[in-house]
Amino acid sequence: PTIRELLSGDQPSFSFEFFPPKTPEAEEVLWHSIREIEQLRPTFVSITYGAGGTTRDGTIRVTERVAQDTSLTPLGHLTCVSHSRDELRSVVGAYAGAGVRNVLALRGDPPGGPAQPWVAHPEGLNHAIELVELVRELGDFCVGVAAFPDKHPEATDLETDARVLAAKAAAGADYAITQMFFGADDYFRLVERASALGCDIPILPGIMPVTNIKQIERMALLTGMALPKAVTDRLEAVAEDPAAVRAVGIEIASELSDALLTGGAPGIHFITLNRSTATRQVFRNLQPAVV
Ligand code: FAD
Repeated sequence: PTIRELLSGDQPSFSFEFFPPKTPEAEEVLWHSIREIEQLRPTFVSITYGAGGTTRDGTIRVTERVAQDTSLTPLGHLTCVSHSRDELRSVVGAYAGAGVRNVLALRGDPPGGPAQPWVAHPEGLNHAIELVELVRELGDFCVGVAAFPDKHPEATDLETDARVLAAKAAAGADYAITQMFFGADDYFRLVERASALGCDIPILPGIMPVTNIKQIERMALLTGMALPKAVTDRLEAVAEDPAAVRAVGIEIASELSDALLTGGAPGIHFITLNRSTATRQVFRNLQPAVV
């Protein structure tokens, strides 16, 4: 099924994000997590697209295996980074060949990280909107895009971000998934701004439970922004006790997810980092009857 169809039901959507592993050990951890998540009967699972090299083949391989060996609906991410148009067409072809019809069309971050200036491939694409158009041209794909409750690091203001999202929807995006964030109000303001621009596609909030203190710094590097003080204060208050940090991280993510669903968000997209325990705990906290 397409994610567009899956999101049209009355029940909230729950989805889980993984990344392609680099070692046989990491591969085992990933498949163990995928099998555990499968038991929760999520709406879909997504596989990120690496910054380069072998992890890119890994994305196709993992996505294909999810399509063929599990009961899950896979969503394959794709970025414009270091790819010509022809290469992008061939990756989309590989997805189609693997039976994958759901693609998340992203620009990608500059290879040096979000702080570096973006440089497009000379024969490639400059913005995600062009990738939405390219994937659409190639066949009957269901296309998702990124959205940013806390503002994309390169955008001048939140209004610009909402306009870009509306333009991606007008170009054929069926739904959006947000960058991780910590304020429910920031999400609802993004939904309102998009809606004021006539953009009513479902916007799934991306949620990642913080499970250790080091992750805070890594996340700031990855997303180009710092965590709000209210969140870091709660985590740092228990910094000496790793189990307590984890419990507080799960509590923060559960409270946020609950506020989002109560306020009308169409679902939750969990970033798992390939370990399923924390996100399964948040999922369980949201619906005591399910597990
Ligand atoms: P775009 O929509 O192209 O936006 C990039 C910047 O350009 C924004 O500042 C925007 O305001 C501006 N812009 C866009 N269109 C125009 C225009 N027409 N004119 C002027 N300015 C414009 N990265 C990976 O490498 N692999 C992944 O698998 C991956 N998965 C992700 C999943 C989700 C849910 C999210 C939210 C992000 C993900 N990312 C991933 C990170 C993403 O690639 C970066 O955040 C990237 O910097 C922006 O991607 P985008 O698709 O939003 O780009």
